[in-house]
Amino acid sequence: MGTVTRIKTKTPSPYQITAIETDTHDTKTFRFELPADSTLDMLPGDFLYVHAMINGKAVKRPYTPSSVPNATGFFDLTVKRYETGVVSKYLHNQHIGDSVLISGPNPGGHWMDGMAKRVGFVAGGTGITPMISIIRWILAQRLDAELFLIYANKTNPDIIFRQEWARAMRDHPNFHCYHVLENPPADWREGTGRITTDSLRQHLPPPGPDTCIFLCGPPPMVDTLEAALKVLGYPEQTIILP
Ligand SMILES: Cc1cc2nc3c(=O)[nH]c(=O)nc-3n(C[C@H](O)[C@H](O)[C@H](O)COP(=O)(O)OP(=O)(O)OC[C@H]3O[C@@H](n4cnc5c(N)ncnc54)[C@H](O)[C@@H]3O)c2cc1C
Repeated sequence: MGTVTRIKTKTPSPYQITAIETDTHDTKTFRFELPADSTLDMLPGDFLYVHAMINGKAVKRPYTPSSVPNATGFFDLTVKRYETGVVSKYLHNQHIGDSVLISGPNPGGHWMDGMAKRVGFVAGGTGITPMISIIRWILAQRLDAELFLIYANKTNPDIIFRQEWARAMRDHPNFHCYHVLENPPADWREGTGRITTDSLRQHLPPPGPDTCIFLCGPPPMVDTLEAALKVLGYPEQTIILP
């Protein structure tokens, strides 16, 4: 196999969109082209900046690639569109063949191989993007780790990568997933409302020397659940915020 070039840029560089997939009613995954023998120089959980000039003003927002970090020839960004959102709307207005200015990767709270044998993931909405990158990586590398995901959304149609979660549970006995919905359908059998201290206790591995917990979602959710995790006995350094 030839040498793989690892790409990292401080200045924004143009990347062309080669595919766009609709994930949910408001979320799309954009595939960006890299040279065939190149990959992003990142660990699972690191993030990029998307740059744009909107109404004469330079803006940038962070996005965590959802693709597996050693992918060559492409990387993916999964982006939820906010009606009043500046950059998310700009991205959703792009088409295949358009180029977008992107810089990075930049280090976020990331996964490093061997850092834990029991890994919890607590995600809300698009907070799932670093998680899927880390989970895809661990499962693809067949690393010795048991994974426990708690994923909160408003409704069933808001669940991003829904089929992949079901498939991962079928194919990988070391992957466990528990969904929590604020407004569940009538026949819903998993969590309802918000993620609570009780659901953390029941669906995450207990605190221990080989355990870490990734937590990502809207800031109020992260603040509340970080405090709840500490009360449950997870040491601060084992709670990772990508
Ligand atoms: C490290 C990091 C990684 C991220 N990765 C991703 C990712 O992979 N995919 C992704 O979709 N987003 C991700 N985000 C969020 C992203 O950076 C932007 O904040 C988001 O796309 C909104 O930007 P905007 O310019 O469209 O909205 P803005 O113009 O910044 O906000 C305008 C309005 O949009 C609404 N809004 C914006 N953000 C939120 C929110 N989080 N919850 C509720 N309402 C909101 C509010 O009404 C707000 O007033 C990440 C954030 C961080 C810090």
